[in-house]
Amino acid sequence: AFQLEPKAKVSDASASYADLDSLNNRLYPYIRNLANNTDFFSYYRLNLYDKQCPFWNDENGLCGNIACAVTTLENETQIPQIWRAEKLSQLEGPKAQHPGRKQQRERQRPLLDQLGTGVGESCVVEYDDECDDRDYCVPEDETASGKGNYVSLAENPERFTGYAGEGAHQVWEAIYRENCFSKPSTSEHSVSVPGLSAPVPALSQNQAQAAMDFKQVMKAHDRQAAIKPGVSEEALDAEEECLEKRVFYRVISGMHASISTHLCHDYLNQSTGQWGPNLQCYKERLHEHPERISNLYFNYALVLRAVGKLRDYVQDYTFCTGDTEQDQLTKDMIKKLAGAIPAGPQIFDESVMFTDQTADGLSLKEDFRNRFRNVSRIMDCVGCDKCRLWGKIQTNGFGTALKVLFEFGNGHVGEEKPLLRRTELVALINTLDKISAAMKALERFRNMVVAERDGT
Ligand code: FAD
Repeated sequence: AFQLEPKAKVSDASASYADLDSLNNRLYPYIRNLANNTDFFSYYRLNLYDKQCPFWNDENGLCGNIACAVTTLENETQIPQIWRAEKLSQLEGPKAQHPGRKQQRERQRPLLDQLGTGVGESCVVEYDDECDDRDYCVPEDETASGKGNYVSLAENPERFTGYAGEGAHQVWEAIYRENCFSKPSTSEHSVSVPGLSAPVPALSQNQAQAAMDFKQVMKAHDRQAAIKPGVSEEALDAEEECLEKRVFYRVISGMHASISTHLCHDYLNQSTGQWGPNLQCYKERLHEHPERISNLYFNYALVLRAVGKLRDYVQDYTFCTGDTEQDQLTKDMIKKLAGAIPAGPQIFDESVMFTDQTADGLSLKEDFRNRFRNVSRIMDCVGCDKCRLWGKIQTNGFGTALKVLFEFGNGHVGEEKPLLRRTELVALINTLDKISAAMKALERFRNMVVAERDGT
């Protein structure tokens, strides 16, 4: 394992750890305020319950349901019901009330006073929810099907839920398996799997077909040594890989690291019933694996760069909450945030990726997009409501960041910019908020390690 040197550049990004920390110290209050104190960004609509896990079910013993979460805590029956994994995993959401608009404006005021605000934004109907071939994620049904619930994100913080064991490992394993990229192949949407001579079709839009395809991929893998997430981690270190494949792995690993940070930082001590940071949890999952922390910083650089690229885009965006004053404040806040992010490639330079315009290069990009969509589908297999919520939001957030980075061009006049759905924009900002808060939590943990070492 390598140690993180603050002045060192985060590999595959252009900034150092220290640069990103200092940028985050400056931006953190704005990101928090935007994500938590605006109606637009603090409610997420998604179909959390009706989508079946397309890849496995209870019958074949591969558990992805809530019961797994319940069995994972020790002495579950002896602890108060409120602390049990099943309870902790439940959403507080759909019935949660919007905080009153007056209360929201009061919360925003201190930071908004610095912005200078205006009113008068008109509110038009949101565009539809059709999937576009530039999407990196399976879009959430905000408007299309009428299914789905609004969830108050503030009421459902990402924190310890007790979801663990085989069910959780299986999901992570499936997610990391998406990292097994194909060599560019002649057939569209296909992927070559080690151990199989013929290419196997990658997961299609059709879920039933997707489930079958995935099983084939799993079988092919199982003929080889069982691949565990941790194995792919080490294997990847040793392997020479193209930048794009490495980036895919780093996004996933960085997201995993962020989830681990949040659950360690907001941990339930079951003996005392107190919530708080769990230093041992941090040491085992993060401190002893600096490459995971490095991937989290990498994600910060990537997502921040994408949010920075929204600086011109949001000018014409309609924030449709029904309160024109608040919509204008929201727009001002996001413009202020995007404007504070360095505009050049100092943090992350996406222009070095997907430069190959040949058929091979284009198929790599297509493959990358498909794999990201598959990760998004795997989230339907997460057997804990709160974890699934944040897993889906963050996959959508990274998918949106990739869409902005690779499909928005370089800001040339007249260049077409794909529209972002409300759910995409909300997911992007909330994903940035999660990474930003994780970096602050890591700072706190580092100080705790030093204090423990110095006996202070
Ligand atoms: P896990 O975190 O399950 O990791 C499995 C293996 O992956 C490890 O043994 C290691 O080899 C490898 N690994 C671990 N971290 C990384 C990394 N960053 N990069 C590369 N490889 C790595 N639990 C909660 O309490 N709250 C949540 O909000 C929550 N959200 C979740 C969301 C999703 C999508 C999933 C799949 C799980 C979630 N969980 C959540 C469960 C949590 O992530 C762990 O699975 C659980 O705490 C068990 O942890 P573990 O120590 O067994 O290792």
